Amino acid sequence: MVGKFEGFEIPKPIPALTEDTKPYWEGCARHELLIQHCQDCGHFRFPPSGLCPKCMSTNTEWVAVSGKGQVYSWTIFHYVYHPAYAKDIPYNVAIVQLNEGPLLHTNIVECNNEDIYIGMPVEVIFEDVNDEISLPKFRPLSK
Ligand SMILES: [Zn+2]
Repeated sequence: MVGKFEGFEIPKPIPALTEDTKPYWEGCARHELLIQHCQDCGHFRFPPSGLCPKCMSTNTEWVAVSGKGQVYSWTIFHYVYHPAYAKDIPYNVAIVQLNEGPLLHTNIVECNNEDIYIGMPVEVIFEDVNDEISLPKFRPLSK
């Protein structure tokens, strides 16, 4: 997870755990995709937050979701916006809509960039960064 830029090794940024996001990242570390589920109106929400955006309830639970969804949108990065990603150019950044509804920013893996399309069925896999952080990424859904 290290890129080179003008002779310097620069690590890729990793997510910062906050009170709201800690359960999400702890689930990812166990290779479980957890999403907040409002116990008053049933809304699944992401990113994590203290209040349900639909009904303002704080009554929520973390539930393991299917990890399946489809590509909602994507783009290919050809420009180096962060030196740690220089060796990855060109790489994709995608928005996946989970079957439960929420949208997640991610990368599509195990797939050529040219083969990504809107509506492509995908499933989550986890890329271990260190002992605490695993990043959810998505690959084409195996049939
Ligand atoms: Zn709600």
